[in-house]
Amino acid sequence: MRRPLLVAHVQADLHLQCQTCLQPMLHRVDHEFTLCVVKDDDEADELSEDLDPLILEDDNEEISTRDLFEDELILSLPVVANHEPGACGVAVPALQSAAEEPKASTKENPFAVLAGLKKPGQS
Ligand SMILES: [Zn+2]
Repeated sequence: MRRPLLVAHVQADLHLQCQTCLQPMLHRVDHEFTLCVVKDDDEADELSEDLDPLILEDDNEEISTRDLFEDELILSLPVVANHEPGACGVAVPALQSAAEEPKASTKENPFAVLAGLKKPGQS
């Protein structure tokens, strides 16, 4: 069965608050999405997983593009808003200590011991 598709592209600059430094940050949304128009939940269940349903029970039902875009924007929000690594005003302690680990060159070479394990009779 052929169903109408709604293809839309949403672009927005959202002003969020970074949850690390609590400073304002810009979250750019540039997102294309496709909705497949169906009559009810049963039809929606029949859609393949890569299609999102748009349920319109009545052929004359009007849809609000504002609501559609609002939903997509909410879906595109990050779970936790944070600046990009390095762009944040607050250094994250865990990341900092990881970067300050001693270099591997101070460790003993684990293969050095093998040099002393020559089989008897050889050499
Ligand atoms: Zn930040």
